[in-house]
Amino acid sequence: MTIGTTVLGYPRIGPRRELKRAVERYWAAKIDAPDLQEVARDLRARTWTELRDAGLDSIPSNTFSFYDHVLDTAELFGAIPRRFHDLDLSPLNTYLAAARGRDSAPALEMTKWFDTNYHYLVPELGPDTSLRLAGDKPVVEYHEARELGIETRPVLLGPVTFLLLSKPDQNGFDPLDLLDDLLAAYAELLGRLHAEGAEWVQLDEPAFAADRTDAELAALGRAYDLLGAVPERPKLLVTGYYGDLGSALEILATTPVEAIALDLVSASYDTVPALREKTVVAGVVDGRNVWRTDLRAALAKAAALIGSAGEVAVSTSSTLLHVPYDLDVETRLEPEVRARLAFARQKVAEVVRLGAALNKGVDGAWADGAAEELPAPLHNDEVRARVAALTEADRVRPLYADRAAAQQRRLNLPPLATTTIGSFPQTTEIRTARAELRNETLDEGGYLKRMRDEIARVIALQEEIGLDVLVHGEPERNDMVQYFADFLDGFASTEFAWVQSYGSRCVRPPIIHGDVSRPKPMTVDWASYAQSLSVKPVKGMLTGPVTILAWSFVRDDQPLADTAAQVALALRDEIADLEAAGISIVQVDEPALRELLPLRTVDQASYLEWSVGAFRLATAGAVPSTQIHTHLCYSEFGEVINAIDDLDADVTTIEAARSKMEILTDLRTSGFGRGVGPGVYDIHSPRVPGEDEVTSLLTAAVDAVPAARLWVNPDCGLKTRGYAEVEPALRNLVAAARRVRATL
Ligand code: GLN
Ligand code: ZN
Repeated sequence: MTIGTTVLGYPRIGPRRELKRAVERYWAAKIDAPDLQEVARDLRARTWTELRDAGLDSIPSNTFSFYDHVLDTAELFGAIPRRFHDLDLSPLNTYLAAARGRDSAPALEMTKWFDTNYHYLVPELGPDTSLRLAGDKPVVEYHEARELGIETRPVLLGPVTFLLLSKPDQNGFDPLDLLDDLLAAYAELLGRLHAEGAEWVQLDEPAFAADRTDAELAALGRAYDLLGAVPERPKLLVTGYYGDLGSALEILATTPVEAIALDLVSASYDTVPALREKTVVAGVVDGRNVWRTDLRAALAKAAALIGSAGEVAVSTSSTLLHVPYDLDVETRLEPEVRARLAFARQKVAEVVRLGAALNKGVDGAWADGAAEELPAPLHNDEVRARVAALTEADRVRPLYADRAAAQQRRLNLPPLATTTIGSFPQTTEIRTARAELRNETLDEGGYLKRMRDEIARVIALQEEIGLDVLVHGEPERNDMVQYFADFLDGFASTEFAWVQSYGSRCVRPPIIHGDVSRPKPMTVDWASYAQSLSVKPVKGMLTGPVTILAWSFVRDDQPLADTAAQVALALRDEIADLEAAGISIVQVDEPALRELLPLRTVDQASYLEWSVGAFRLATAGAVPSTQIHTHLCYSEFGEVINAIDDLDADVTTIEAARSKMEILTDLRTSGFGRGVGPGVYDIHSPRVPGEDEVTSLLTAAVDAVPAARLWVNPDCGLKTRGYAEVEPALRNLVAAARRVRATL
């Protein structure tokens, strides 16, 4: 069998988030393990049946996961750390404990999967890890499909990417040292899959779409030479999506693997080495975005490979994990937007149509269908003219020193000023009010009153605790991007288009379908109401342009930089309105600035230029005495410190949960010259930090940052915590700041 037409992976949470619901009910002990397994089996069967009925030639299996496919791989090869086995739980509960942690066994670390908004669990490997074939999930699922009469291609995370995504459990250990053991285990698995009847296996090596060292590239070659030499095995399809495989492609070309998948959406592959013995799987349907494919252009891309490959198959550019299931259920989208979209199910149909055209040639009906005119994106001349007229001056504020002086005159803040990141706990009352507004059991007026009561309560609490700079608490924000998308023209929201972010957590990214503009102020009423309740400054609270882009589906018909500039102008106008309403501090959150950083170093400078430029465009209209804050949600501060400096925010608060000391070193050595608040309270944990603990952190911090520029704050928003933890933690934080202030 040839591959013909395929997809490299499929959503797994269920078209109605059935898996999320079942897993969460299992955690709440409302269903038991067999019930949960039944839901999972049903979802798998539905996926395979749907893909077969759609007409794909090769159907992936083992794309299902209860939580995360990297964790599945760790379990499969015996790499669940001992602390989870020591809990003495069932295999399923051991697996889930590694994902979520228990009191005596903290969870595996979670981090971003390449440049996507999916998060994986980081395997911990060390000299004592003995990698071996310890499970049979891919075999069981292959078998399960076969029982249904569906022949599938098991998908595995590739051995080298698995090791490169892992972290050493002790200093000086290199996970790649485990390659040979791991390859032996993969070889055994390939043998078993072959014995079961699997003709093809897919191995994903997306780590090679990023820059790699010679040693890492050599490991890739060694891995596929060895796996290729396994005598009784399925044919191997190796993928390396999210970008260009670069020199990894030449290496793979020399190995015995039978097929290589190229992501022809993220990369152009102008020169493809001769792959005459191999199948090239042409990834021409975008696996990560929601737009309909230009079938003629996609067909031309696939056809162009015919000369250099033994055979050409058609596929999505990546797994479809990052797109929603089905456009057909979205009945409330505007027709002009809807006509331009394709979700997972529609993309499968596109692959099938492309495959038919590639094999049987293009007939009149196909050509007519492919030439169908799509509606044009929403166009706004005014916004376009504004973007076109921008100059560097629009992105520059007066000198920091002058601004800092003007702000100090206006705000008169003490050294080690205390504040929070924005959100306060989202209580059941708040969620209920939002839900009641949505299903119209609460009217606008009633909703407004409940939100205002909540804001008043949060302001009073902060005053009583003694914080210096207050927030309104963000009770009205369902989500930090969705909230703004609902106000802005050029954005569409969906009803069911959920995608997995991590584990059972799903997000519903808005779709930017045209020119972005702001018909009316978005946050001013909440902010000015909050400010009216206190003589202390209350921060206006906005989400930055890069984060809005990162957590939306973006246009692919114009550079991201242009879309970012349009969003930035909307935020710039919002800041002007906040200033007019008497707000003296505006925080513009950019937790996703690091997330979109391109995988290849050569592409990073231009990304940082437009992304930092967009932030500056959003904020540089502020008068010198308006203090601009930003908040960043990651601790690899050192890596992007120059970009953070270029943001030119007056104050930067940063997540420092994992390594507070590392951040201080970065701050000292980089000479970061503006206000900075390294988080001193890890909000990701229910633990309440003691006053002494915060005091000693602050004592270390004043050593690295002059007290006048040092801010004291938690390391992220408080929305996921409860008041029982938040109140004492904030009291300790304020008491510690006062103690250290007294020593200055
Ligand atoms: N202002 C937001 C909050 O406090 C920031 C959230 C974030 O960094 N992700 O919730
Ligand atoms: Zn944060």
